[in-house]
Amino acid sequence: MRLTFLGTGGVWAAPVHGCTCSACATARTDPSRARAPASALLEVAGLRLLIDAGRTDLVDRFPPGSLDGVLLTHFHADHVLGLTLMRWSLAEPLPVWCPHDPRGYDDLTKHPGRLRFQTCAAGAPFRIGPVTVTPVALIHSRPTLGWLVAHGAKRIAYLSDTRGLPDDSFAILGAAPLDLVVLDCAYPPGTPGPRNHNDLPEAIAILAKLSPRQSRLTHINHDLDAHLPESGPDAPFASDQGVVEIV
Ligand SMILES: [Zn+2]
Ligand SMILES: [Zn+2]
Ligand SMILES: [Zn+2]
Repeated sequence: MRLTFLGTGGVWAAPVHGCTCSACATARTDPSRARAPASALLEVAGLRLLIDAGRTDLVDRFPPGSLDGVLLTHFHADHVLGLTLMRWSLAEPLPVWCPHDPRGYDDLTKHPGRLRFQTCAAGAPFRIGPVTVTPVALIHSRPTLGWLVAHGAKRIAYLSDTRGLPDDSFAILGAAPLDLVVLDCAYPPGTPGPRNHNDLPEAIAILAKLSPRQSRLTHINHDLDAHLPESGPDAPFASDQGVVEIV
């Protein structure tokens, strides 16, 4: 399995329009420090699966036939915006596995074009070729699913957007060793609530409980990026274009 981060930013990822903080200033002068909407490409068993689709350049990045499907965590704009363009492709239909959410996003589910939305239920595994995908419930401001992907004995979990995890999801994720966990961590320590995303201590506590072999934090906002130099070695932040190989 190979996971490539296409974006690791939250909705207020650096650079934020009009912001003069240190993280945003750095991201403007050094594009490698900017963060696109949180999303990733998972390559496993000859399949290429997109996890979330907030980038608006997906139609340029993925020519016809280069994707086998999309695992969509939820219908917030920073996760689906690229699909509003991809749907009008004349290429083969593209499956999009997603949570049940009657609100959806604008007219995306009413006019899906080439997209084939397939509603998934937490705790109900399904197969994509030789790969088993188990949706797990997350805790967010609207229906949201994390994705546990297993191939042979290898298991990785992509868990964003969320603040905390339901007990049922801990049980599913903890049923066997995890090779990689990618987890929502939007805020620096002590960010006041109410929130729909983890801050750094909450994310670290979840990782400690899940105890994966590798971990990466994603959906990072500019104020967390500004705090990042103080975060210490226990905070495994992802970066755009970063790659994790599971062998
Ligand atoms: Zn900023
Ligand atoms: Zn969200
Ligand atoms: Zn988001």
